[in-house]
Amino acid sequence: MPKKKTPKFIFITGGVMSGVGKGIAASSIGKIMQARGFKVTALKIDPYVNVDAGTMNPTEHGEVFVLSDGTECDQDMGNYERFLECELTSANYITTGSIYQRVIEKERNLEYQGKCVEVVPHIPLEVIDKIENAAKLAGADIVITEIGGTIGEYQNILFLEAVRMMKLKSPGHVATVLVSFLPLQGKDSELKTKPTQYAVRSLNSAGIQPDIIIARASVALDKKRKEKIAFNCNMEEADVISAPNVENIYEVPLNFEREKLSAKLVKKLNLESDKTDLKSWKTLVRNTKNPKKTLQIGIVGKYFGTGNFTLADSYISVIEAIRHGAQAKKVKAEITWVDSSSFDPKENKSWRSKIKSLNKFDGILVPGGFGSRGVEGKIKTIQFARENKIPYLGLCYGMQLAVVEYSRNVAGLNKAHTVEVHENTPHPVIAVLPEQELNIEKKRYGGTMRLGTYKAVLKEKTLVHGAYKKSHESKSSTLKSKVFNSIIDERHRHRYEVNPEYVEILEKNGLTFSGTSEDKRLMEIIELPTEIHPFFVATQFHPEFKSKPLSPHPIFESFINASIESNKIKLHKTNK
Ligand code: GLN
Repeated sequence: MPKKKTPKFIFITGGVMSGVGKGIAASSIGKIMQARGFKVTALKIDPYVNVDAGTMNPTEHGEVFVLSDGTECDQDMGNYERFLECELTSANYITTGSIYQRVIEKERNLEYQGKCVEVVPHIPLEVIDKIENAAKLAGADIVITEIGGTIGEYQNILFLEAVRMMKLKSPGHVATVLVSFLPLQGKDSELKTKPTQYAVRSLNSAGIQPDIIIARASVALDKKRKEKIAFNCNMEEADVISAPNVENIYEVPLNFEREKLSAKLVKKLNLESDKTDLKSWKTLVRNTKNPKKTLQIGIVGKYFGTGNFTLADSYISVIEAIRHGAQAKKVKAEITWVDSSSFDPKENKSWRSKIKSLNKFDGILVPGGFGSRGVEGKIKTIQFARENKIPYLGLCYGMQLAVVEYSRNVAGLNKAHTVEVHENTPHPVIAVLPEQELNIEKKRYGGTMRLGTYKAVLKEKTLVHGAYKKSHESKSSTLKSKVFNSIIDERHRHRYEVNPEYVEILEKNGLTFSGTSEDKRLMEIIELPTEIHPFFVATQFHPEFKSKPLSPHPIFESFINASIESNKIKLHKTNK
């Protein structure tokens, strides 16, 4: 075991441009240090003035990830949890807004004892406090902190000041990493180092010299480029790490280790560790490289004027959870984004012929969402999946709309709706809970939904009960209780619920509520019996937030299993 010392801090900053994978680099550095036996925690600093990510539009800023304590945060927090197989809390998430809010609150409470409160040093000091507190709470040996934004922007300067102050205060305890980007240019396709040199100069002007440069590029860096960066940026050539594009993000820690990154950080931070173990991670990557077959999964949502890239960013946890389930079965899941508006009878006259295109999918998923756009098309999609026995997984809004669909087309409540879309519907099967009514009335939208982890009790002999039980038993050697007690805890982010007044009629019509809150007031999971449909499951919570590459979520795993079966049947039919 490596010796325990006071925590060490690794800061990840980004240069040249955004979107080159700082979050994955931070998560991967965490992973390779964890593989050396260190206890690692991670923080994300978002330069936004927003207090949290809950009020941000996911098609502009990417997915809003939800932590178990209900914190609505940046999608990178999801990457940290997935790579480090840990649970983070609000202590691990910082925004400009939250820091200023805290400083102003302290000033109002006379906590600065009459001093003049200034942007410097009080803002960076508050940042340092938060980072040190996260280290303490986690009992961490190593704390990874990712600073959002790009070097040279005005918005993250106070966070860089915090890094400078920490480095000054604790020499030998702080390492800084710059994730930079090298464009390919010219007919000889040469990787250009100049933008990286400028980024380092800007970092230098904030009083920080990077210890490591992670050189992101479409291809691997040659020796010449490493020499050039090293010479111009006052670095050792060995500290310039080549980070070419990868097919699968889980390859990144392995690529870093090819460049001996963890050993370099161990040395720079005066740590002791001579062994590393990435065995299970290597198996994971190997499984993804040689899939036995490819499944077609359709994700149907309200996509409007967004490219594929943005969609992938907005639903990253859903995509990852599907991949985790597929990796475990050594298959590949090919995801197609399907715009639900093309199945909306009001928007598209030929919707009946269009919707038949869904037959090509081995599994269909309707993810979370808000508002009325695309809703009728989603409801038609769910009906199609149900009637044609295509495996269906609904998440949050995808469950609420499945309840609407079932009410209309099976229970005979043909005007049923969610009050989110139709306030005065004669059959409000999805309604707002009394405790949420005031929030809506007073326009209190920030942090007021039903957020974070809540328990649910599962009904025995149901599909989901079987799935969770199986997953529990596979991990039981590492768990305290060997027997599955039918209680799960999952993360939520919604304002509306199944209306308890309609539960009985829906049950009478064949819908199973296989998971409820402990007091039975809130419906958490619906499903159809497997004699009727091979896999028709929808959850009020978001199982995708808890799925990990090495332990896929049971619901996603069984969705993939059902999709594999439906693929086999399809193959059988076409071969006949
Ligand atoms: N719009 C729905 C609600 O607020 C569903 C939310 C979601 O899918 N995350 O209840």
